Amino acid sequence: MYDTIIIGAGMSGLAAGIRLAHFGQRVCILERHTTIGGLNSFYRMNGRNYDVGLHAVTNYTPKGTRRGPLSRLLRQLRFTWDEFALAPQLGSSIAFPGVTLHFNNEFELFRSEVHRRFPDQKDNFERLLAELIDYEQLGVSASQQSARETVSRIITDPLLVEMIFCPMLYYGGPRQRDMDFAQFSIMFRAIFLEGLARPFSGVRLILKKLVRKYKELGGELKLRCGVARFGVKEGQVRSVVLDDGAELEARHVLSSAGWRETMRLCNEEAALQSQPPGELSFIESISVLNAEPRLLGCDRTIVFFNDSDVFHYEKPDGLADVRSGVIASPNNYFYDEPLEEGVVRITALANYDRWAALDESAYRLEKLRWYDKTVASAVRFVPDFRSAVIDTDMFTPTTIRRYTGHDNGAVYGAPFKRYDGMTHLENLFVCGTDQGLVGIIGSIISGITIANKYLLK
Ligand SMILES: Cc1cc2nc3c(=O)[nH]c(=O)nc-3n(C[C@H](O)[C@H](O)[C@H](O)COP(=O)(O)OP(=O)(O)OC[C@H]3O[C@@H](n4cnc5c(N)ncnc54)[C@H](O)[C@@H]3O)c2cc1C
Repeated sequence: MYDTIIIGAGMSGLAAGIRLAHFGQRVCILERHTTIGGLNSFYRMNGRNYDVGLHAVTNYTPKGTRRGPLSRLLRQLRFTWDEFALAPQLGSSIAFPGVTLHFNNEFELFRSEVHRRFPDQKDNFERLLAELIDYEQLGVSASQQSARETVSRIITDPLLVEMIFCPMLYYGGPRQRDMDFAQFSIMFRAIFLEGLARPFSGVRLILKKLVRKYKELGGELKLRCGVARFGVKEGQVRSVVLDDGAELEARHVLSSAGWRETMRLCNEEAALQSQPPGELSFIESISVLNAEPRLLGCDRTIVFFNDSDVFHYEKPDGLADVRSGVIASPNNYFYDEPLEEGVVRITALANYDRWAALDESAYRLEKLRWYDKTVASAVRFVPDFRSAVIDTDMFTPTTIRRYTGHDNGAVYGAPFKRYDGMTHLENLFVCGTDQGLVGIIGSIISGITIANKYLLK
């Protein structure tokens, strides 16, 4: 009998596993996939290493900083700052027609950009900063209050509202157009008040550190080991039944599979009906270049772009919507040495159902078509790098679904979150995306928080 079984070897599951193993629990992480990492994994193709998703690690604070999620997670997981080897961003932008706001890891730049471009919103922007909910308050005071309503009450220029929401929603929006003000506060802090960074060797460095520590502490990890259902009795999970029919027992179960996905394991139809699935997913084009992007004039770390004054963060009717997107270059960080090759990644909104309905040959064809469309849309906002492309890849919502099991390939999970991490069963808890903390740092913090709160008592 395990003390705790954790479902999922993504960021949140691994972080929770480290906490529990550190305090002597007998822990087992069960992962259906053949590898670790979940939504943010890595793979090798044509002799090259690719990250599945990584644009940037948010919440960057410099070495020695005592406050904030990054220093908290390093302390809780017993890592030194140097072990994550994060290099800060060069600088990023939000680009709308005729207006661009630059930002970097010094908040003063963003503040001065807002003041310069929207002088009549200067005081309102300062009021918005004063209203932000502190990270630590999540779960205590987090109400499901509309961020759009709250922000629009304070910022009266609709264009500035749209420009602020573009990075917030792209990097953490689980539902169309809007998000909870609590989540907005977290994302605002994570991107603008703290900042963006990246490990030189990508997400694999963070994942390998997490998994090594977990195993050193005695934690068990079983890959290719999906959980098919729970045996439930008298308000508790009594057994965890695997895809191959084997049964495991644990005092507690912690699931990072997602809220609906976890309720399905309990056979809880009512809970499934009351919680709609997330619908927002993405395509991402990856272009490998024969030069550093900045030598081609692409010197921004991230560009959030939108080609009109209104940002449509919605499930597209067609396969994808390239009116807006995120252009990211893993090269544009302050590293000690350059990366081997130049890379530009472009993310755009996509419709899971439409991609899932394609047969194999149509799917391949549409991937090629949408690679071209995505890049053509992006080069309206950054210099045209297409003549330097030497290799490409592209992933779609069905790729995300396959890697993570999340309904609809919804990157940020279900639209409404379970901030307290509890379920209807007294020994079953959820962490990660559907507990309400998204992104690499957010999901690690989620795993730690739920482990501390319920499983280490
Ligand atoms: C394309 C893309 C780009 C991204 N870019 C960034 C970025 O630049 N910066 C950033 O901070 N964040 C980024 N993210 C978001 C970030 O990756 C996620 O928020 C985070 O990794 C979520 O971690 P998690 O532990 O909550 O869930 P997941 O990573 O989804 O982990 C859940 C795990 O559970 C497993 N599982 C599910 N069901 C079962 C079952 N029944 N049995 C066994 N195992 C199961 C899944 O296989 C999966 O491995 C990106 C995500 C994507 C998809």
